[in-house]
Amino acid sequence: MTSKPGNAAYDPTNIFARILRGELPCKKVYEDDHVLAFEDIRPLLPVHVLVIPKGAYVGMNDFTATASGDEIAALYRAVGEVARLKGVADSGYRIIVNNGVDGHQEVPHLHVHVLGGRKVGRMVGVQPAAD
Ligand code: AMP
Repeated sequence: MTSKPGNAAYDPTNIFARILRGELPCKKVYEDDHVLAFEDIRPLLPVHVLVIPKGAYVGMNDFTATASGDEIAALYRAVGEVARLKGVADSGYRIIVNNGVDGHQEVPHLHVHVLGGRKVGRMVGVQPAAD
């Protein structure tokens, strides 16, 4: 795992950083030089895998601003590979990136949810505006 200039807000004690350092276990689905994918500990669907970059990125802002082309390509390739490995490439799946406070991101290390194994519906968790 590497730190990047301009990424001061990254908290190296977050739970996914600890998984990447091998301090906490995970059920690994896929790994390459840039990416780790593992089973979500509280699956919302029969298939629920998290795909994370190995680099120290909080979310889409710093990832898209400072990650290399290889890192960005690797994350997307890994999503496709996970879908194939989990058997949902043909049946279909949804990817979600919760980003920041309004995006309801809980773990401050960029992660792509890969969800499938049954029909997921039209859209998820968007409440109508109160005003
Ligand atoms: P988000 O709300 O997008 O930040 O999602 C965080 C996800 O991380 C949730 O779906 C959690 O169930 C999942 N999660 C939290 N801790 C772990 C862990 N130790 N191993 C695997 N998944 C985890």
